[in-house]
Amino acid sequence: MSGPASTHTNAPVSHVMGVYSRATLAFERGEGVRLYSTDGDEYLDCVAGIAVNGLGHAHPKLVKALKDQAEKLWHVSNIYRIPEQEALATRLCETTFADVAFFTNSGTEAVELALKAARKYHAVRGALERIDIITFEGAFHGRSYAAVNAGGNPAYLEGFGPRLPGYINLPFGDMDALRAAVGPTTAAIMLEPVQGEGGARVFSDQDMQAIRDLCDRVGALLIFDEIQCGMGRTGKLFAYEWSGVEPDIMTVAKALGGGFPVGACLATDKAASGMTFGTHGSTYGGNPLAMAVGLAAFDEVAKTETMDNVRTLTGYFGQQLSGLRDRYPDVISEIRGKGLLIGLKLIPNNRDFMTYARDQKLLIAGGGENCVRLLPALIMSVDEGREVMVRLEAACRAARAAAAKP
Ligand SMILES: *Cc1c(COP(=O)(O)O)cnc(C)c1O
Repeated sequence: MSGPASTHTNAPVSHVMGVYSRATLAFERGEGVRLYSTDGDEYLDCVAGIAVNGLGHAHPKLVKALKDQAEKLWHVSNIYRIPEQEALATRLCETTFADVAFFTNSGTEAVELALKAARKYHAVRGALERIDIITFEGAFHGRSYAAVNAGGNPAYLEGFGPRLPGYINLPFGDMDALRAAVGPTTAAIMLEPVQGEGGARVFSDQDMQAIRDLCDRVGALLIFDEIQCGMGRTGKLFAYEWSGVEPDIMTVAKALGGGFPVGACLATDKAASGMTFGTHGSTYGGNPLAMAVGLAAFDEVAKTETMDNVRTLTGYFGQQLSGLRDRYPDVISEIRGKGLLIGLKLIPNNRDFMTYARDQKLLIAGGGENCVRLLPALIMSVDEGREVMVRLEAACRAARAAAAKP
């Protein structure tokens, strides 16, 4: 068995820190679901900046919002009222369980605040011992110290000093382990309703409800990290809506800004009750430039037409991908995920498979458990979906051929 020739680099060929294994490929322009490389090739994009470019590349409404705002006002401090921020907070709260929102520049910062708010909630009630944050294997919550401790991935923790106290990482979906771990020192349980980096793993509605009940019984808070699965990706504005189970706190980012860095931590008034004047802040978070783009992106994603398209395309991919798996059981072992957060669990190495796809000018993302993820823009048409399938099938053929080589 032979893999593809190396097309990645993490060598110090530039002055950029080598923490990524980068494809030797750069893009200069994007339009909708297509990306154009510096060497003139056209690619079909099913990575979408890891679910960031929910509206594709260079969406005219986002371009206009950015340009218009750029000529008016980029930044003012959060010591002033920011009307665009209040407007986006209103949108987010009116369409979710939440009463309040705080804006950040990244997903990690939203997670950081979610964890701080959960501990502070208990602290202001005198329960200073309630510090434990319970999460699940395969989780990804970001790269700050709190986020890597919450995520529990050893690769992100080793060599960075002692693990922080108060983080408990349990096997995915092990409800018995969860019941045993939850107790009087639990501050919160945090989960992604659909795990992203973990490889498009879905929490069942039943488990979501059981976790909610458990939180209510012991007085712990429930945090959903919808940074990847939220903002329309599953065919509802937020993935938790499918289960009907509401969290107390939720983190949002990625597609919230459609490519402009924006995150948000949403909470009920009760869950945010510890976060009073002087307990938190951000220099850039929620500045007018970010909010102008965020508002335009939100209004476009939340449209019925966009959500209808996600569901139509989800149906199309569901059907086509199960056919593909039937034709290539030696390549694809399982299809999972929800909506347009699609995971293909592979038999050949997923990194190799991403190269075969790239040879077909199809961009797909990796994921845990030897998965690849398809994360197309929410606006991809079924015709474009058809092109994805043709190229994906060609990648499957290449993988089969490579496996047959002595
Ligand atoms: C991407 C991601 C994060 C981290 O967001 P950054 O913007 O990279 O800090 C956290 N949680 C989930 C579920 C994510 O997908």
